[in-house]
Amino acid sequence: MARYFNTCPHCGGNLDPGEKCDCQEERVAKEKNMQSLFMSGKGGQMMLCFMKEERAVEKAVV
Ligand SMILES: [Zn+2]
Repeated sequence: MARYFNTCPHCGGNLDPGEKCDCQEERVAKEKNMQSLFMSGKGGQMMLCFMKEERAVEKAVV
């Protein structure tokens, strides 16, 4: 019974063909959070930043 997996080059996890590994989504979400922090320093864009953080958290959870 041969079943082929793609291997995530970042964490070594087994992925179904076409599946994206969660570890990358988490990394992207963290980077977005970092950007949000920088943006919040400007002021006036706080709402936008909060919305982005919420979306990032949702992605990380799913
Ligand atoms: Zn991975």
